[in-house]
Amino acid sequence: MSCQSSEELNELLLEAKHYTKYGTVADYIPALKKANPHDLSAAIYYPDGTCLSAGDIQQKMTLQSISKVLTLALALMDCGEESVFHKVGYEPTGDPFHSILKLELNNPSKPLNPMINAGALAVTHMIKGKNIEERFQRILHFVHELTGNSKITYSQEVAKSEFETSFINRSLCYYMKQDGIITEDVEELICLYTKQCAIELDCFDLARIGVVFAMDGVEPMTGKRLLPADIARLCKTFMVTCGMYNASGEFASKVGIPAKSGVSGGIMGAVPNRLGIGVFGPALDHKGNSIAGVKLLEMLSKKYSWSMF
Ligand code: GLN
Repeated sequence: MSCQSSEELNELLLEAKHYTKYGTVADYIPALKKANPHDLSAAIYYPDGTCLSAGDIQQKMTLQSISKVLTLALALMDCGEESVFHKVGYEPTGDPFHSILKLELNNPSKPLNPMINAGALAVTHMIKGKNIEERFQRILHFVHELTGNSKITYSQEVAKSEFETSFINRSLCYYMKQDGIITEDVEELICLYTKQCAIELDCFDLARIGVVFAMDGVEPMTGKRLLPADIARLCKTFMVTCGMYNASGEFASKVGIPAKSGVSGGIMGAVPNRLGIGVFGPALDHKGNSIAGVKLLEMLSKKYSWSMF
């Protein structure tokens, strides 16, 4: 399956590209520093299988925080809503994704939602499997199903680079271990989490993930249900309330679609019942979202009335 380059999308992309100069590439994971801050690409995937693209959509990125939506779906399928939300809350934090602040303020320290790092680590902890390799293979298999692309694997370089520098994520884990939210070995959990964040794909793959969420869990071309509708809806709710970190309110006002970003510069969006979109632009704003990617989504939403509000 391929994507057609679109003149109309390209015009908006070129306009949005001007904003890349105001952003910076993430550097707290050393391997991410290599990205070109001026890159910007996008793909839109429709339920009838047509796909429009602009920019170099062959460019690969790692999932990073976008993986949090997928592990949430998997943990919900594994353990059910009650168990998952026994350990993680439903509420936005208004704090940066790395923050440890609310863990300290709440007693016992339950992370406020599954889209911040603390919550995502607790969610990954709940994914079933006999060892971390099997649990990782389950996450990867789910990505293969959602994208229809079984070639997807993970970047060992990015995983290793994050593993070696995950000081804050280790701190979050130990904090939660103290309160029994996490019971497994922290090094093992960090190993699994850094691999899940390092799964490598492109905008087209992201757009295909987006369309499955847009269609409430059904892959539209095959008609195959990949996740239950109530779980797809729950994931989309978190994408709206917490998907763009502590910029989710502004994003909901200006774009109005469920979306999830990652520090690699990727954004996966789902316009309910209409389409999935994948964007890649590694220059980030100060909250960690793709600066030009957000601009492009704003322009698209305005032009094609995507907002669900
Ligand atoms: N792997 C990254 C981390 O945990 C993901 C964060 C992100 O994309 N916001 O720091």
